[in-house]
Amino acid sequence: MSQRYNTLSQAFRSLFGRRAKKISLDAGSACPNRDGTRALGGCLFCNAAGSGTGLHHKGFGLRAQWDAGTVSARGRGEALLAYLQSFSNTYGPASRLQALVDEAAALPDVAGLSLGTRPDCLDAEKIALLAGAPLGHVRLELGLQSANDATLARINRGHDAAAFARAATAAAGAGLWVTAHLMAGLPGESVADFLATVDFLNTLPVRGVKFHNTLVVAGSGLAALYTAGGYEPMSRPDYLDAVVQGLARLRPDLVVERLNADPAPGELLAPAWAADKQALLRDIRDRLETDDIRQGGRYAGPAVRI
Ligand code: SF4
Repeated sequence: MSQRYNTLSQAFRSLFGRRAKKISLDAGSACPNRDGTRALGGCLFCNAAGSGTGLHHKGFGLRAQWDAGTVSARGRGEALLAYLQSFSNTYGPASRLQALVDEAAALPDVAGLSLGTRPDCLDAEKIALLAGAPLGHVRLELGLQSANDATLARINRGHDAAAFARAATAAAGAGLWVTAHLMAGLPGESVADFLATVDFLNTLPVRGVKFHNTLVVAGSGLAALYTAGGYEPMSRPDYLDAVVQGLARLRPDLVVERLNADPAPGELLAPAWAADKQALLRDIRDRLETDDIRQGGRYAGPAVRI
């Protein structure tokens, strides 16, 4: 089976000259879409308990989590990246972000830092701070989800597509690697809407993309909508179409860092097909082969210089 899209492991090999591994750490970050600064309910698809491990609030700092998380990787010679995944890690004053960066840079053998955040939690000061961080490689994982502002309002996202474009452009301009998160199957959206979001992303100086199928998870606003009969999850065949066609339209230089969502144990209410992540991945790869589709094979836009 030939390689039909740019993988993260390839990108890491060319960045570090070896395999790399991201170590998920909980920095105890908050979210302006949950604490009332933007909204109280959070994004419609987000679990009210959040996506964090809660380790920070249990008293485990980044160093303790790092030491525990890197045990199995020690001795394998991999490049190790600190991954602040949960909530919005650049939210709050720049001094908090500076403290996080300093803590991450002091982790033993750390080769880079990846931070998940929202576009509205990045300003020029924070971007400059991250660009000047004493870490070899700094990545931002920014949620876009949809390029359709009506969808973003429907899912209570708290920002529009233009806010994503501004943040991604500013961060990329400062030399940061930006990875966008996109979702297929959001309320009111079809495969065509997802493909329009891919087209929008193609116009921006991002480096990576993560595709997610929308999950109905316990405790989310979407779960309430689903239970009330107001939301029908995307079908598995439609998700396969969305990913395969999305890859075909995707700019050829982008790194595809994820092809489907990964529900946490016990949280998935629907669709049932999303529980078998490996079978879905296998079927996506089989479809790429049987339909002879490669990333960017149907990309019609100009090359973006980054
Ligand atoms: S998905 Fe992210 S931005 Fe949205 S409510 Fe959850 S933590 Fe906040």
